[in-house]
Amino acid sequence: MLPRLRKRMAKSAANPARIEVLKRGGGMKKDDMENLYSAVRTLQEAKRQARELGMFVEERDLLECPACGLWEDVNCEGMLLVYQKDDPSQVDSGLRFREVDGTHFVCPACGATVTVEDKD
Ligand SMILES: [Zn+2]
Repeated sequence: MLPRLRKRMAKSAANPARIEVLKRGGGMKKDDMENLYSAVRTLQEAKRQARELGMFVEERDLLECPACGLWEDVNCEGMLLVYQKDDPSQVDSGLRFREVDGTHFVCPACGATVTVEDKD
């Protein structure tokens, strides 16, 4: 990035008036904001439908139980498969890890807790 542009952006970000504009939607017009909200709702609905179809659409890594080796896998069509890691058939067991919170899941096979890294 050009130093002059970087300086201008830093100056703009520190400007209290600019911060107020950002809080109100970054200076977007009301119609633009409505369109953005609408697009987000559409995306969330598409994600819900994909999840319902059995696709993996989560924003986390695939899970693997450290105790029994049950793990999540995704096939080439994006479908979530859960099976024992050493099972050569790779057939979905139908089991699903239960989310406790954003970073902890319970293994449906043995009850162990699986922890994933928080990406935030
Ligand atoms: Zn397990």
